[in-house]
Amino acid sequence: KIKNDERGKKIIDLGNGIKIGGDEFTVIAGPCSVESEEQIELTAQTLGSMDIRILRGGAFKPRTSPYAFQGLGLEGLKLLKKAGEKNNMKIVSEIMDPRDLEASYDFIDIFQIGSRNMQNFALLKEVGKFDKPVLLKRGMASTIKEWLMAAEYIASEGNDKIVLCERGIRTFEEYTRNTLDLSVVPIIKELSNLPIIIDPSHGTGRKELIKPVTRASVAIGADGVMIEVHPNPCEALSDGEQSLNFNEMKEILSNIKALRGCI
Ligand code: PEP
Ligand code: MN
Repeated sequence: KIKNDERGKKIIDLGNGIKIGGDEFTVIAGPCSVESEEQIELTAQTLGSMDIRILRGGAFKPRTSPYAFQGLGLEGLKLLKKAGEKNNMKIVSEIMDPRDLEASYDFIDIFQIGSRNMQNFALLKEVGKFDKPVLLKRGMASTIKEWLMAAEYIASEGNDKIVLCERGIRTFEEYTRNTLDLSVVPIIKELSNLPIIIDPSHGTGRKELIKPVTRASVAIGADGVMIEVHPNPCEALSDGEQSLNFNEMKEILSNIKALRGCI
């Protein structure tokens, strides 16, 4: 149903001129987790002033340990939405439980399905009943076919506003957190009409790799990137080691602009 066909490439239109797909290269940025009003306000204001129009932030966090920071839940989503509205930014945030979809609806512009839930078919079918775009991250142990079939689960319920997000897969390599599979970009372009973005943050787990991987994402034809940014990465409650500070993010934006001018 959502394979590449004569209908051409899908563009996700979020309103206010904010789009994913087509000729755009969309940058999504924000902290791994929403931690406080102050943190998310400052982040939104700073990223908004860099002309980043989509803010990410986790409120329901899929942490490995049940004792690690689990996110602020609905309260976090409210803070995110408020910060986004003030700065003309759309919101992407992960939902892990279908029971949270309805209550979250007003605060999220793009529902994120995380890597760990890529084959949570009940969740996929539920999110497919809503009319909001879905950011479907690749399962860390999923093939391209499994990933596209997961997208079909969402589409089969009526919602084909789907953005795919490559975030790395598990391999024997330990130097990086995951092994980012950049070759999926041209493969997905061949097999599907959905936009595909790259998550260099979870894909590498190392902040020094974000810049080169973002450059490569532009060059290989991705529709955008999603990058973790924190006002003070050393103090982040999750994923500080892969989060950029504001200056580092700004430098990457100028890299993207320069590269896009060459292609
Ligand atoms: C995230 O983007 O916040 C996240 C948890 O990523 P992933 O599902 O790719 O691990
Ligand atoms: Mn994270």
